[in-house]
Amino acid sequence: MSEQLINATYIIAAALFIFGLKQLGSPATAVRGNLLSAVGMFIAVVVTLFSREILEFQWIIVGIILGSAIGAVAAKKIAMTSMPEMVALFNGSGGLASLLVGWAALYNTGNTTFTVVTILLSVLIGGVTLSGSIVAWGKLSEVMNSAAIVFGAQRIVNALLLAVLVICCVLFAMEPALDSPYLYAVIALSLVFGVMAVIPIGGADMPVVISLLNSYSGLAACAAGFAIHNNILIVAGSLVGAAGIILTNIMCRAMNRSLANVLFSGFGAVKTATKVEGEVKPINTEDAYLILEAASSVTFVPGYGMAVAQAQHVVRELGELLEENGCEVTYAIHPVAGRMPGHMNVLLAEANVPYDQLIEMEDINPRISNVDVAVVIGANDVVNPAAREDENSPIYGMPIINVDQAQTVFVLKRSMASGFSGVDNPLFFGENTRMLFGDAKASLSAVIGEFKG
Ligand code: NDP
Repeated sequence: MSEQLINATYIIAAALFIFGLKQLGSPATAVRGNLLSAVGMFIAVVVTLFSREILEFQWIIVGIILGSAIGAVAAKKIAMTSMPEMVALFNGSGGLASLLVGWAALYNTGNTTFTVVTILLSVLIGGVTLSGSIVAWGKLSEVMNSAAIVFGAQRIVNALLLAVLVICCVLFAMEPALDSPYLYAVIALSLVFGVMAVIPIGGADMPVVISLLNSYSGLAACAAGFAIHNNILIVAGSLVGAAGIILTNIMCRAMNRSLANVLFSGFGAVKTATKVEGEVKPINTEDAYLILEAASSVTFVPGYGMAVAQAQHVVRELGELLEENGCEVTYAIHPVAGRMPGHMNVLLAEANVPYDQLIEMEDINPRISNVDVAVVIGANDVVNPAAREDENSPIYGMPIINVDQAQTVFVLKRSMASGFSGVDNPLFFGENTRMLFGDAKASLSAVIGEFKG
């Protein structure tokens, strides 16, 4: 295949990526967008295989079979609740791939200084992404403590590490060779730096890390694209890098924090929330039904517990019953609810909840005091009034859905346990709050049973 034809086909693939990404912006078109991007990637891969630079196909075939098998089994086996961890691992494998591609590019003869710099960048960013994603996976899956790990002189250690890393990069660039000890030092130090960069981030700040690592994996791929002179890898990497940065920005805004503050301050490292005490008022499903039956407006506020309970289908069913009863039903979506960006949107879309009933946090809050019943389904941090009221709270300043201002609040959860950030929630002791203890799916099914008589 000629160079021109390959590049022309790459342009078609790039256009498909861009249209696909655009369509991913709305739940209504997201499935089509995903398919378009996948077709673009398929075209890009096939065309690349026709490139005359391929020396032998055996290892490529082994890679395709192994990769497809791992991907297919993971997609089938992984529970919806483990999706965030899987995304973290996928980011990490993107980083590993870029590190290896950059490294392998050193086999090419006649690399220019520019190419050597891009090789270094793909190895460095790839390494940071790989080890950082493994730590993020550990925190999300709670294999390790999800809290921020901070210690004295942490910034000094990190600054020294970065300085040594830069020096090794310079020394390698002066005499680039496959067996250069400085190359091994860059790989090892970038892996250590990835761990050091992610451990001080924890608790409610984790969404920012996930989107940032996603962006890094794109930047690493983009650098690898320059290293091996592959235009479509440069385009795809830049798109992932840019999309990840935009998402990081959205996540930072959702937490009302600057990126620098998230990266360097250590979540809750110096703050201890005021101890919350008071009377808890439990409610049973019969009484919950009676209140819901009389309500003229109900807002469901889903959180991570809805994903755990897989309660999205019963939520939609209850929503429909309420509507048939003449009630106005809405779903309030907090940008960091769940364990990955867009987590709640994905679950509710899967249950066919109409998109026009999904209301963003800033649109629901001004009218929440008119809502008769706010039904909190396994959400905790994103409805914690301490974020608004307790200056000592680690989540102080994070915008929340102000369910405590609704006429009545039902909180569906199994116990009084705190959420991902480990911060107590005064909402549970509120005058207008009723706790409906139990698995969210079981509780909602019981309320539905009451509705159906
Ligand atoms: P939280 O983690 O704050 O709370 C979830 C609640 O769900 C728990 O308190 C738990 O209480 C309850 N729960 C668990 N299982 C069930 C069940 N089967 N039935 C009923 N309830 C259940 O979730 P939020 O969505 O409110 O907040 C998300 C948190 O995660 C934020 O701190 C956010 O920063 C963080 N995060 C978000 C990411 C993202 O990208 N969205 C990524 C990483 C972290 P109990 O055990 O008592 O049932």
